[in-house]
Amino acid sequence: MAKNLRGKRPCCICRTWFLPDVRQKGRQKACGIDCQKELHRRQCESWNKKNNSYFKNNYLGKKLEKATASKPVQNSSKALLQSKTKPVLPMEIITTEYGIKPAIIVRYLVTQIINQTRARPTGFT
Ligand SMILES: [Zn+2]
Repeated sequence: MAKNLRGKRPCCICRTWFLPDVRQKGRQKACGIDCQKELHRRQCESWNKKNNSYFKNNYLGKKLEKATASKPVQNSSKALLQSKTKPVLPMEIITTEYGIKPAIIVRYLVTQIINQTRARPTGFT
């Protein structure tokens, strides 16, 4: 990054020149608190874009773990299968036919598809 002799540098968000805090030792990239917040937001956004499969794997893995951990207690696994939100699926039939793990995966996939189609703008297709 560009620097002048007095140690000033351009803010990576608003492009105005600022004097970094000496305690930051050259690591400061944004000028004020607002630009730092914006920089943090952008960094989080790009991190989330790169790593969103991590959360999806994590979520499904935890659901499956819960399902197998609560197997002896029938009621709690039933509660796991009952979803308060859509999709409404014949979870009992799916569970008895395939088992609890495939049932959870099926519901997860259906939810993903619904969310994908909802996110798309309608009217121009
Ligand atoms: Zn700035």
